[in-house]
Amino acid sequence: MNKDTVTISVILPVLNEQEVLEKAVQKISAQLESLGISYEIVIVDDGSTDSTWDIIEKIQSSNRHVGALRFTRNFGKEAAMAAGLSHATGKAAVIMDADLQHPPELLPRMIGMWRDHGFKIVQGVKESRPDESMARRLGAKAFYWIMSRSSGYDLSQVTDFVLLDQSVIRVYLKLPERNLFLKGLLLWSGFERAVIPFRCTQGARQKSRWTLSMLFRQAVHAVTAFSALPLQLVTAAGITTFIFSMALAIHTLYKKATGQAVGGFTTVILLLLIIGSVLMISLGIIGLYLERIFTEIKKRPRYLVRDTLFPK
Ligand code: UDP
Ligand code: MG
Repeated sequence: MNKDTVTISVILPVLNEQEVLEKAVQKISAQLESLGISYEIVIVDDGSTDSTWDIIEKIQSSNRHVGALRFTRNFGKEAAMAAGLSHATGKAAVIMDADLQHPPELLPRMIGMWRDHGFKIVQGVKESRPDESMARRLGAKAFYWIMSRSSGYDLSQVTDFVLLDQSVIRVYLKLPERNLFLKGLLLWSGFERAVIPFRCTQGARQKSRWTLSMLFRQAVHAVTAFSALPLQLVTAAGITTFIFSMALAIHTLYKKATGQAVGGFTTVILLLLIIGSVLMISLGIIGLYLERIFTEIKKRPRYLVRDTLFPK
């Protein structure tokens, strides 16, 4: 992989992909070979606990287009994508899932849009996803709804299957924040973007690597990274309870003045419960942002690399 000659870098973030990785690399190579352009494939092992790394070593030793790095532990797909981008030497890079849900057959079209039509970002948008459970679909719907309401970015169709021009990669890698969210940041960046609709193929692996708690954490990060609306909701909740309390205060004072001040236990209990929960939730929301600020100012690296394997 000579620095000046690589045109396209394909980045594969992988976590426990021993079953499909080899096949994926084969299919992707076949597509790129047929285009006759120079390419490299950068595999980022995001702390796999199965034999994925052994397979990567095997692939790497027999394929001069493949380079790889391995994290010390699981740092998450966003970190793996960032690591891949910072090691990519191509004039453009394509990020793909290793489970073949992002069809390699789309690569020629994506590259064409970039090379011939000058788009800086070419992104796959999904038409349908056959393998998702009801809970995941509902969760995703809720997340995208909150995201578009709070930040104005509609990400519901957008995927991480994306080609980025090196100018975009440079901007992305310069972003100082620790918690990255690629899909949102690409919309935010405002570069010319083309979209290519595709059907998520039934991958060789069925089960998603994301647990529900990983997805939930990711969703909270995404919303807090792009919008301060939840904080404004805290103010709104405060104002609402204030208006109610004014009305109740007048009522209570009137009762006191007219000498019928006993009773009203129900009101007291309800008030305690309502104000208590509004306060707790508000504190929680503020806490979420505080946590974000906390992790940002610590400035820890996004990931730690244990091994790297690149062709000499
Ligand atoms: N992945 C990763 N780190 C993680 C979770 C997933 O690198 O913590 C990789 C995974 O190996 C795959 C891609 O990210 O190549 C997408 O993961 P998956 O197919 O499980 O997600 P989904 O199909 O639900 O989008
Ligand atoms: Mg998948």
